[in-house]
Amino acid sequence: MNIKILKDILSANDQIAERNRALLDKHKVFALNVMSSPGAGKTSLILDTIRTLKKRKRVGVIEGDISSTIDAEKVKKERVPVLQINTGGECHLDAAMINRALENMPLEEMDLLFIENVGNLVCPGEFKLGEDRKVLIVSAPEGDDKIYKYPLLFHLADAVVVNKIDLLPYTTFDVDGFSKALKGLNQKARLFRVSCTTHEGIEDWTDWVLSTMRPPKQTSRRQPRP
Ligand code: MG
Ligand code: ZN
Repeated sequence: MNIKILKDILSANDQIAERNRALLDKHKVFALNVMSSPGAGKTSLILDTIRTLKKRKRVGVIEGDISSTIDAEKVKKERVPVLQINTGGECHLDAAMINRALENMPLEEMDLLFIENVGNLVCPGEFKLGEDRKVLIVSAPEGDDKIYKYPLLFHLADAVVVNKIDLLPYTTFDVDGFSKALKGLNQKARLFRVSCTTHEGIEDWTDWVLSTMRPPKQTSRRQPRP
């Protein structure tokens, strides 16, 4: 019975996610769903990306948090459209929350939308939002074992960003071992090593964002999901 209920919730969510995709398509907005545990650097990576790309792309941000507008205030200073979702206790964003947010954003004035999910490595993986790509951040200080403890998100990710690489010498994070573990779980995920403090690796990351935004020749701009 419990399993049946969960399935119903997820299929209702998926239907709304499809509507979100259609709406984003209509306005030619490319959406990235950014996920990580709390404090891994979602907001920092989004801010660094905005600063790097904002002369070339019109960026918007949806900030998901259980409460507070702290991250949205930081993004607002970059003078890009930002909308805060407070989930009121929910530990993930769902498609209906994004649908309401999209209705209140100037989509016709945006090329690229960052959706900062609630800091959580578990259920954000279960809820499609209508995004084009899933981005997962793991930071050097939190350890390289996250991939073994929370494999679903690593399996689903289109890009995995190891953040805070400036701190690697002070941690036991083994990037090569992590990279091998990632290949074992997910052949297609691109791996990036960045520091939002020193800005090392940010250009590799933003180059990927630009290249993945480009429409493939003579087909829909969306790649089929495996
Ligand atoms: Mg944040
Ligand atoms: Zn949740």
